[in-house]
Amino acid sequence: MKVFNTLSRQKEEFITREPGKVSMYVCGPTVYDYIHIGNARPMIFFDSVRRYLEYKGYDVNYVSNFTDVDDKIIKRALEEGVDSSVISERFIKECKKDMAGMDVRPATTHPKATEEIGGMIEMIQALIDKGYAYEVNGTVYYRVKAFRRYGELSGKNLDDLISGNRTLLVTGEDEKENPADFVLWKPKKEGEPFWPSPWGEGRPGWHIECSVMSKKYLGEQIDIHGGGEDLIFPHHENEIAQSEAVSGKQFSRYWMHNAFLNIDNRKMSKSLGNFFTVRGISEKYDLKVLRFFMLSAHYRSPLNYSAELMEAAKNGLDRIETGLVRLRDEAAKCPVGPATEEGKAKTDALRVKFEEAMDDDFNTADAISVLFELIRHANTLAPETTSRGDWDYLRETVLKLADILGIGEPKQELLDEAVEALIEERQAARKAKNYARADEIRAMLAAQGILLEDSKDGVKWKRA
Ligand code: AMP
Ligand code: ZN
Repeated sequence: MKVFNTLSRQKEEFITREPGKVSMYVCGPTVYDYIHIGNARPMIFFDSVRRYLEYKGYDVNYVSNFTDVDDKIIKRALEEGVDSSVISERFIKECKKDMAGMDVRPATTHPKATEEIGGMIEMIQALIDKGYAYEVNGTVYYRVKAFRRYGELSGKNLDDLISGNRTLLVTGEDEKENPADFVLWKPKKEGEPFWPSPWGEGRPGWHIECSVMSKKYLGEQIDIHGGGEDLIFPHHENEIAQSEAVSGKQFSRYWMHNAFLNIDNRKMSKSLGNFFTVRGISEKYDLKVLRFFMLSAHYRSPLNYSAELMEAAKNGLDRIETGLVRLRDEAAKCPVGPATEEGKAKTDALRVKFEEAMDDDFNTADAISVLFELIRHANTLAPETTSRGDWDYLRETVLKLADILGIGEPKQELLDEAVEALIEERQAARKAKNYARADEIRAMLAAQGILLEDSKDGVKWKRA
């Protein structure tokens, strides 16, 4: 499997630190409002990365944080006259609802920055002790010149950064030793949340949060660190500088970044009036359509949101879901029989093609094309002339692959005639003393919410 590593700027063979295990950290949203559809891109993409790694048999420890202390949160809290935790808790809850709608599975752990302040103070102290940080008037800065590899991830040259930042220096920051130094701890301001620290009351800088949460939940070294490409500099560059200065070891093996989502070929922004929240989209579309749309492009290509492309995504997803429903509902018509070499080979060839797409730096766009091929192949099969074994093998394969992309059978009710056909098959199985098959059918129907009741007048059924 190949993964494009931002650090080396090339695709590399994916080799985990521990065989069979993946630890991954993805920077989560700042929770000051409903998430926008740009935030949804990394959520959806990395959820499919995790699902694919699990499909490949890896045990994945996935951590994604909520940034719940930040200027934007404080600003909104002041506007509403409430504590900033009221704002962050409200939007964490709303974000989780949106995630569920997009079928983004909860991470193994979703740490919150405000609950990890102790670890941040410890790491900042360790940086000071090792000569990588210094305090001036209650502010602690990271000394970028002390970290030899600073700029390696983003490809920036420290001298350019220094001269560039010199002109950007704002009042109050001239206490820095070097214009490119960044804040680890800042003193409290009136009306802001604060915590006690050896440098006075204050709050952490944004970058230290992720270094600390990643270390606490995944250890000093991880396999994958992800986020949107806007995070490469300064956020991830600074995370590397912090984590590696403290541990003396490589922080993350692979750095993965999704490209941006634009609207009608322009950057999404409130001032341009082309700003969409996930919640807003959910009024018009099932959020699974948004997910399908996001995965229809390679994650490293910019993606353009438009009404036409969303309609195309809706139609594409419909086609796949209709195919899945047919695979489910027509199964009962297949003559009972084992899977054949030929039937399995055709399904396997397409499964391998799907895996090849995903193994090539998670090419979900190509994987979706293969899913369409599988559905087209299924549609060429007539249930009456396909053995039940072949049908089931194909159906199980398609379901497994579709699930990696977050696609499943829509919650559409089984047609009455399909229920009756299955009940008939169950009766025949019982008569033939094939109780295993009879039980399997009962369980299959139960999974669809169909309850069977055996009475002396035959089998009755109802929907739960
Ligand atoms: P933020 O809340 O701004 O820290 O962003 C949370 C995540 O969303 C980060 O991984 C960002 O890189 C990502 N992100 C923000 N805006 C966009 C966008 N327009 N397209 C893609 N990713 C984005
Ligand atoms: Zn982060």
